[in-house]
Amino acid sequence: MNSAIYPGSYDPITFGHIDIIKRAASIFDHLTIAVLNNKSKHYLFSVDERVKMIENTLKDLDNISVESYDGLLIDYAKAKNAHVIIRGLRAVTDFEYELQMSQTNAKLSDGSVETIFLNTDLRYAYLSSSTVREVASFGGDISKFVTPDVAKLVYEKYKLK
Ligand code: ADP
Repeated sequence: MNSAIYPGSYDPITFGHIDIIKRAASIFDHLTIAVLNNKSKHYLFSVDERVKMIENTLKDLDNISVESYDGLLIDYAKAKNAHVIIRGLRAVTDFEYELQMSQTNAKLSDGSVETIFLNTDLRYAYLSSSTVREVASFGGDISKFVTPDVAKLVYEKYKLK
């Protein structure tokens, strides 16, 4: 079976992530969305909340699963016997960091894990979870960035609307 992992923070999941997930899920037999729980990082949503939010958002896709991980991505990939990591690219600013990460992961895995990049859909090129959090924190409209269910959860966190 051809499977891949799509790792990220998803704090929260946006239309940009959803687009990449749908496209990757149409290429691979199975896609695991791997939600990072970096213990030294402060997230708006707990890892369990992020996992649940993604499961609810993508409940109509039957060849995906959502899991959490901490530590090194490459250790998680090895434990799952996964050989492909999916990453989304929005702009040149993503590129340098992503290139370095993919080369590091290739080195750490002795070349057994490949990173595949999917370009952002132009509609979502500007979109990041941090933008969503910032706009929402000031009570702005995030309906063009996330699903209505996710928007509700984000506003609840900021005790707005
Ligand atoms: P962010 O917090 O920057 O939105 P995440 O860690 O949640 O990032 O993102 C996981 C992956 O999804 C990364 O590879 C990131 O580049 C990609 N991604 C995030 N937003 C978009 C978007 N709008 N279009 C394409 N890829 C995206």
